[in-house]
Amino acid sequence: MAERMGFFTDTSVCIGCKACEVACKEWNDVPDDGFVFRATSYDNTGGLGASTWRHVAFIEQPSRVRETQEGRKPGAAGGEEGLEGWLMASDVCKHCTHAACLDVCPTGALFRTEFGSVVVQADVCNGCGYCVPACPYGVIERRERDGRAFKCTLCYDRQLGGLEPACAKACPTDSIQFGPLEELRDRARERVERLHDEGRTEARLYGADPGDGVGGDGAFFLLLDEPEVYGLPPDPVVTTRDLPAMWRWAGGAALSLAGAVALSFLGAGRRR
Ligand code: SF4
Ligand code: SF4
Repeated sequence: MAERMGFFTDTSVCIGCKACEVACKEWNDVPDDGFVFRATSYDNTGGLGASTWRHVAFIEQPSRVRETQEGRKPGAAGGEEGLEGWLMASDVCKHCTHAACLDVCPTGALFRTEFGSVVVQADVCNGCGYCVPACPYGVIERRERDGRAFKCTLCYDRQLGGLEPACAKACPTDSIQFGPLEELRDRARERVERLHDEGRTEARLYGADPGDGVGGDGAFFLLLDEPEVYGLPPDPVVTTRDLPAMWRWAGGAALSLAGAVALSFLGAGRRR
């Protein structure tokens, strides 16, 4: 097995240019997802899906209330009234250490690569959709009119050719960094420390802890607010966690039932 590779997405330097979304679509030949105009946000793609494998979220930050001589007023100095700015974050499949999508796939369409990433093979997927509710992050999705499931492959084909994923290559600010996972984790911890020293104490890592409910993510993030603000679950848990215990319970129940049936036949035989 090759060294485990991953993504470190440092949202503190994202400028929301969406070059990552475009590069992903171009390289992977991902079709458009409707050209929907959302009047509520500058975010025109809305979220991750079968045809959006990288999604740059624009999260509007309401301005804090200011105390003025005239009383309490919204609006930060120099900011638009009611809006302080945006948090921007490029989201992607987390390539979980314990990936429930992979656990539940009955055809083997989902597999773990030699780089530690989780990939779905469209030509093996039968469109059953079991992986969709199994993902604790709501990443994988079946494509309309096609039926099969799609998601980020961490550019498996590019990695096989010794190249970095298209989104990381295109990112002009290095918000998306690709490399050996352990190295990325060290770099991310240093970055958080630096931000804390600069007074940005809200900076935190998400998905970098191998002790969390999914065993850590192959794609983790530096966030500037609570995960929920970015639409991320605060404490994700692999949804197949209880499967072994359930199978043991089901096996025990089946054995008890078989024993009861055998006893009833024995009892009936003796009465004849
Ligand atoms: S984030 Fe969802 S789709 Fe991606 S590897 Fe984890 S369980 Fe699978
Ligand atoms: S390419 Fe980089 S800076 Fe541009 S939106 Fe994507 S992550 Fe942000």
